[in-house]
Amino acid sequence: MSISHKQAAYLDAMGIVRWQRQSAPGSQLVTGTPDQFLQSAVPTPHADWDHLREQVLTCTQCELHASRTQAVFGVGNQQAELLIIGEAPGADEDRQGEPFVGRAGQLLNEMLRSIGLQRSDVYIANILKCRPPNNRDPKPEEAAACVGYLHQQIALIKPKLILALGRIAAQRLLQTDTPLARLRQTVHAMPITEIPFIVTYHPAYLLRSPLDKRKAWQDLLFARKTIESIQY
Ligand code: URA
Repeated sequence: MSISHKQAAYLDAMGIVRWQRQSAPGSQLVTGTPDQFLQSAVPTPHADWDHLREQVLTCTQCELHASRTQAVFGVGNQQAELLIIGEAPGADEDRQGEPFVGRAGQLLNEMLRSIGLQRSDVYIANILKCRPPNNRDPKPEEAAACVGYLHQQIALIKPKLILALGRIAAQRLLQTDTPLARLRQTVHAMPITEIPFIVTYHPAYLLRSPLDKRKAWQDLLFARKTIESIQY
């Protein structure tokens, strides 16, 4: 999907940095190399929630299906204005089948409350739907195999804003290696969908580095202001 000149002018007027796709989107690709990451993200035209959930829960497109307890689809308000995207399920999420239910999830709930939102107001999903063993970073081919599901969730939700949690989610989705600290406090546009996109620290990182919670709060205020400024 490319954007029109009018949409581009609108994004520019809002001061939104538009990241350039590195290659044109192709057909549905479910496995492959890192540069197929975005190509695999083109949503199918007739995605619906039940069908998509069934696909995710029975997926065997990458090796992670063999070690998972269950796939973790996503949770929340299917009409949410704010979509929160993390990296991958951890041990608690793998056990319970819901994203961000462990200690990091408790902190995420508090972060949301700090800007007047309940967990049930937003939608929460991950790039990977299955837990990588020992919580290692997602491999590029795993992300490439899985990100199409996330894009179908985005197409169904049509959020006003995407908030990426942590370096891995931010860099993978924006297709950049710019450090997280330099990606913060800017409204980017997610490639392909061109949905406004901002980043903040991962709550698991904030549990280890509580001094950065203040910056995360500034990011959340920025997110709220951005949502309020988007009228349609
Ligand atoms: N970390 C993530 O990125 N996602 C989860 O669902 C849990 C922890």
